[in-house]
Amino acid sequence: MSLVAALSGALGAANVLTEGDLSAWERDWRRRWHGKALAVVRPGTTAEVAAVVRLCAAAGVAIVPQGGNTGLVGGGVPDASGTQVLLSLQRMNRVRKLDEANLTLTAEAGCVLQTVQEAAAACGLLFPLSLAAEGSCTVGGNLATNAGGTQVLRWGNARDLCLGLEVVTAQAQVWDGLSGLRKDNTGYDLRDLFVGSEGTLGIITAATLKLAPQPAATTTAWAACATLADCVALLNLARRRLGAGLTGFEAMGRFSLDLVARHFPQLPRLLPETPWTVLLEQSDTDGESAARSRFESLLGAALEAGAVTDAVVAESLAQSKAMWHLREAIPLAQAEEGLNIKHDISLPVSAIPAFVEQTDAALHRRYPGVRLVNFGHLGDGNLHYNVQAPPGEDGRRFLSDEEHAVNTIVFDAVATFGGSFSAEHGIGLLKRDELAARKSPVALQMMRSVKAALDPQGLFNPGRML
Ligand code: FAD
Ligand code: ZN
Repeated sequence: MSLVAALSGALGAANVLTEGDLSAWERDWRRRWHGKALAVVRPGTTAEVAAVVRLCAAAGVAIVPQGGNTGLVGGGVPDASGTQVLLSLQRMNRVRKLDEANLTLTAEAGCVLQTVQEAAAACGLLFPLSLAAEGSCTVGGNLATNAGGTQVLRWGNARDLCLGLEVVTAQAQVWDGLSGLRKDNTGYDLRDLFVGSEGTLGIITAATLKLAPQPAATTTAWAACATLADCVALLNLARRRLGAGLTGFEAMGRFSLDLVARHFPQLPRLLPETPWTVLLEQSDTDGESAARSRFESLLGAALEAGAVTDAVVAESLAQSKAMWHLREAIPLAQAEEGLNIKHDISLPVSAIPAFVEQTDAALHRRYPGVRLVNFGHLGDGNLHYNVQAPPGEDGRRFLSDEEHAVNTIVFDAVATFGGSFSAEHGIGLLKRDELAARKSPVALQMMRSVKAALDPQGLFNPGRML
């Protein structure tokens, strides 16, 4: 019997797709990679995932796991060979359990992030992971990529919000590690091995996630800074004054907001043009007015110290949303402007002003007129430092001809300043060669040993990451 027939027998023919338009699964969100799957399979239970793994392992056929297909590094789509099975977890989308007293929620891997947030909110609880793709990305994908987003400063990334996992291994066994324990020192931390493994070690089928009480009030402010060093000074002031109440700190270079104004002219400009803009968010168990007055006194002190030149505090939830909307419109405006060379980098916060000054200068010397779309989660030391072709130049040509040279300039500088060339999006295909070239040989050898031990047949996501 052919593999496709056997898979149809296990899952039902309706859940094994080989014909028609499969581009929703075969093409990535950025449309950089377009593969061809042997079949798209859609198991509905953990046992069915194990059955798919068993059949594929017996046939020696590779499996590419996929959640919401919003990943940005090409890790979740099949290659062009037509020999890989695309395993979509989208049908495994249930919240299995919410334990209010333990502050945990257990969800299947294909559960959309926003569904988890809403299930928690319905009980007055918060699942803090938040990113612009939350309406379609999944818990499994968030954990497989160890996603970050806009609340990392306070709550950590996906790894910090995960207490337990259920995983189907390459031997088609089910590991039930769905613990809701905060403390469990019983040997190697297998959970942390799978978090961030980008589908190369096992298939996550469910997770137990950490919740917190919903804050009583969330306040947002928009501040203008003359320099990036001033943004860092504001961050440190905010940390000292707001403590754990500081839940978001996003910085945006002028050109990123210019692009938003150009492509989304209906959105408001909240302050006159300024070299840098910061979005600050404060969440608190205190009421609204206490939070607002703390915010106002922080911004007053920042104005006095010269770190900020102008600022507004949102008066309402609608205004707060408008601020976030502007920030989240940057990647969309950038896509409207044309292809660009993206970098998702992290650095010690203290090194960021000097890194940006030197790297901007090096890029301008090499590519006169080049445009830098620089924005990101400054509170986490994470910049989306994207390089757009000079005006009038074809973005596609710039990407295909210059990507390697631009990456070398940026990543060499990142290394000099003690940073990382992948902060939150992962490795996938996009940065696989960078990983091989830049990660220490000792670390690479340990990573390869782990892969060989857990997936000796190279069944899961071959050619990605390693
Ligand atoms: P997919 O894209 O389907 O898969 C991603 C990777 O995980 C692939 O390698 C895949 O093989 C693997 N995988 C998926 N599910 C499983 C599973 N169940 N078991 C094992 N492996 C699996 N990322 C951030 O960190 N911070 C951001 O702020 C952020 N913003 C974004 C904004 C937009 C508009 C978009 C499109 C993406 C953004 N991302 C961001 C990228 C990000 O990685 C994801 O959106 C998300 O974490 C991926 O989830 P997904 O379900 O779409 O995974
Ligand atoms: Zn980001």
